[in-house]
Amino acid sequence: MGRRKSNRKPPPKRKNIQPLDQQFNCPFCNHEKSCEVKMDKDRNIAKITCRVCLEDYQNGINFLSEPIDVYNDWVDACESAN
Ligand SMILES: [Zn+2]
Repeated sequence: MGRRKSNRKPPPKRKNIQPLDQQFNCPFCNHEKSCEVKMDKDRNIAKITCRVCLEDYQNGINFLSEPIDVYNDWVDACESAN
């Protein structure tokens, strides 16, 4: 019985080049770049607020979370609420 070589690929490395854009389009009022994300890494909470319609959203984060993740969660939450 021969030993099988494991064919596992190393996980793809995430490129660390990301724009520091923390302003996103609002899913409620559709204004561009009206939503600002604040990452509170001490309390593991992120808050996103639209400065036009004042909708806000809060979500738990971890040390890997990026503002875009919070924004995507918000959009998902909006869509599942509809
Ligand atoms: Zn808005």
